[in-house]
Amino acid sequence: MTTIFSANLGYPRIGEKREWKKSIEAFWQGDITDKSLKEQTKKLRLNNLKKQKEQGIDFIPVGDFSFYDHILDTAVSFNIIPERFNHHNPTDLSSYFAIARGETNAVAAEMTKWFNTNYHYIVPELKGTTPTLIENRALYYYEEAKEELNIDGKPVIVGPVTFVKLAKGYQESELESWVNRLLPLYQQILSELATAGASWVQIDEPILGTNLSEKEIQLVEQVYQTIDNNVSGIQIILQTYFETVQHYERITALPVKGIGLDFVHGDNLALIKKFGFPSDKVLGAGIINGRNVWRADLDEKYQLLQDIQQAANPKTLIVQPSCSLLHVPVTKHLEEKLDPVVKDGLSFANEKLEELQILTTALQEGKQSVENAFEASKQAISNLNQSDYRSQTPAVAKTDAKREIPFAERKKRQQATLKLPLLPTTTIGSLPQTNEVKRTRTKWRKGDISDQQYNEFVEDETRRWIQIQEDLDLDVLVHGEFERTDMVEYFGEKLKGFAVTEFGWVQSYGSRCVKPPLLVGNVEWEKAITVKEIAYAQSLTDKPVKGMLTGPVTILNWSFVHEGLPRFTVQDQIALALEKEVLALEETGINIIQVDEPALREGLPLDRLKWPAYFDAAVNAFQLATSTVKPETQIHTHMCYSEFGEIYEAIDGLDADVISIETSRSHGEMVETFEKNDYKKDIGLGVYDIHSPRVPTLQELEANIQRALETIDVEQFWINPDCGLKTRREAETIAALEKMVEAAKKVRKQY
Ligand code: GLN
Ligand code: ZN
Repeated sequence: MTTIFSANLGYPRIGEKREWKKSIEAFWQGDITDKSLKEQTKKLRLNNLKKQKEQGIDFIPVGDFSFYDHILDTAVSFNIIPERFNHHNPTDLSSYFAIARGETNAVAAEMTKWFNTNYHYIVPELKGTTPTLIENRALYYYEEAKEELNIDGKPVIVGPVTFVKLAKGYQESELESWVNRLLPLYQQILSELATAGASWVQIDEPILGTNLSEKEIQLVEQVYQTIDNNVSGIQIILQTYFETVQHYERITALPVKGIGLDFVHGDNLALIKKFGFPSDKVLGAGIINGRNVWRADLDEKYQLLQDIQQAANPKTLIVQPSCSLLHVPVTKHLEEKLDPVVKDGLSFANEKLEELQILTTALQEGKQSVENAFEASKQAISNLNQSDYRSQTPAVAKTDAKREIPFAERKKRQQATLKLPLLPTTTIGSLPQTNEVKRTRTKWRKGDISDQQYNEFVEDETRRWIQIQEDLDLDVLVHGEFERTDMVEYFGEKLKGFAVTEFGWVQSYGSRCVKPPLLVGNVEWEKAITVKEIAYAQSLTDKPVKGMLTGPVTILNWSFVHEGLPRFTVQDQIALALEKEVLALEETGINIIQVDEPALREGLPLDRLKWPAYFDAAVNAFQLATSTVKPETQIHTHMCYSEFGEIYEAIDGLDADVISIETSRSHGEMVETFEKNDYKKDIGLGVYDIHSPRVPTLQELEANIQRALETIDVEQFWINPDCGLKTRREAETIAALEKMVEAAKKVRKQY
């Protein structure tokens, strides 16, 4: 007999209506004190725990809360503070936020995507630090849940191997020594939790889904052996997610009480079938998709659980989501405008917990005890499959699209029309979305102002900013994206096949949330999406205005794609729709078109064996969208990171005339890759960090430019910020761009 429990692995922090975000931003603005920030977020946190308790979840995660990011929390609690923030008291909130956001004399810590998600974590900088445990956050949140709500929570911490692997500021050969330095701190955390009465702890090691070397896997074995030798009184469930675990037999043999596996992504079921599962361990079966918002097919999940049970035959089986629910919105109940068929097909965090509970009950008491719920799920899924969204299948071109003429020739022709100076300056697309912009959009959405009034407002903003950009003397201007809330949602609203929610927000980085559209069925282009705004901007200036689109890979990655749709086919459909938009822009006289692909790298599968297929599909889609323009039309793309070593071939394969990338936060690491590969096309250097309100100094901007010029030809470079400016305030944006243009002009003079 197997005993069945339910568990959650992490709950969204942000609140049903992004209350968390609002509190944190109010604190940053100085509108509330740190005391009230703590009070407000505590209320929210306890409320989240209560909901999980009411839902009947047996293992409720605690310590999944954060004021910004849980990896930053972990680093700070180990006193791993970048040297430039050393003067701070590490445990107060303003110092914590300073590391994440930067301050006058110190640039923010680097931020990177969490595995293949759009959640960003703050990269710990180990160099020069002496780890000590200055606070035990897991313990704090464990005790809080117990005292306030009488919940015996399951503390969640990120494991030592994942933590160090994700950190920077050390040589590869020092991995083991850094892990060993942290190990005593982990043991202290665990022992203190045991003393406080915690019976379980969830240690997340998603790194186990990546390709670890023999040495690294030995390190994992040594780590959990050491913990087992030194800590008693608490049971560890070692949690992995996002992929098939590599080295399955060695992982399941580790001296921990339980192993949590993802049964939605990758193929852990095959491993269990092949190798079985240790009889003395608890199996956490991640069967509800924590990365998607679609309602689960309960019949299918029930069958999956039975297959798992049969293959693994564990004494204890825990029914759980495939990963933390951090990656999905809170609840679908607030959605009042959605097509009922779509709404009925959805399941956000709260509804997923409900599904977990239904499946747990079905296993405990038999399926008939929850028959109605099974019936409802079946009905909802079938309604969606038979809806208009799925009615016709548009033809998909499978051609190997390529630009007609090689880059070198294109560059000459483009330069002949554009006549840009050396080191041309530009921005990435969006300009500050002031409160007024957001308020006006809300009014328009509510019907308080007419379409015409809204359009006029957007045009006024665009006009004002074309003037500002001309005054700044930027070389290539943008229309500013004032009409867009979000770079993916906007296209989701206009393309056929998508639906958009009102409250379907998920955390992206810090307080920034995004609202991914729902990709329900076949994607089609119906009419021009961006032409009106961009052509208007171009009509106001003699300088070139860059058309601005989001690319197919990014639209796919940042949408919640229905599980019944073949991803690569949908990606091609999006690409073909975008091609029509690209051609429509070209037709109205736009000579530069940027197709953003910031999600290209993040979408990389954890398992390298899957990379070639992913790259092929991504490159093909980008080319489908962009390769049919005239040679004179300049295609840009943008990615807000700089580690191109592993994806270089794909980047080159996109064949974009200009690629703008991040350079400032990573301190120029990318140049190496481009230099080594003798990259010939143009590169836009993201010379300052837009994720921080800080205005860069002329010296550092110059240094960022000079560093790149040391190895790559000056003719190849453009100068720009490292991403769009929509989250920044107007004054700081103008000040920063002024400095940027000044730096570019200064360097230009030397040639
Ligand atoms: N064009 C987009 C913008 O400027 C790009 C955003 C991004 O890369 N995330 O907002
Ligand atoms: Zn970007």
